[in-house]
Amino acid sequence: MSSRILMIEDNEQNRYLATFLLERNGFQVESAVDGAAGLRAAASNPPDIILLDIQLPKMDGHAVARALRELRELDRTPIIAVTSYAMVGDREKSLAAGCDGYIEKPIDPETFVDTIRDIVEQVRHIRGRT
Ligand code: MN
Repeated sequence: MSSRILMIEDNEQNRYLATFLLERNGFQVESAVDGAAGLRAAASNPPDIILLDIQLPKMDGHAVARALRELRELDRTPIIAVTSYAMVGDREKSLAAGCDGYIEKPIDPETFVDTIRDIVEQVRHIRGRT
């Protein structure tokens, strides 16, 4: 069975590109356009991997990551932050909020899927299969 990815991303173009790249590589993708919708989707049908935009309306990605980690079903699930922020310390904030890794926007189609696979493998090595 292929991995199910929940992508929480408010930008339609980013959703489109990421979904295209992931589906082409055999992933199943569900998307949510804000943190509240993402939390509902994650709780009702826990995914194998979460891709989390940090710059979201209302609830930012750091807050979403913390809330996701409070869901018992998701305490071992790889969460990968995706952000265009070039702010100093943003990566550390994402990791402190519960993310396992970090991908910078704009998405590079050449490396996007491999980077996700690398982060997921690292997480599974450390934490065990989810
Ligand atoms: Mn965004």
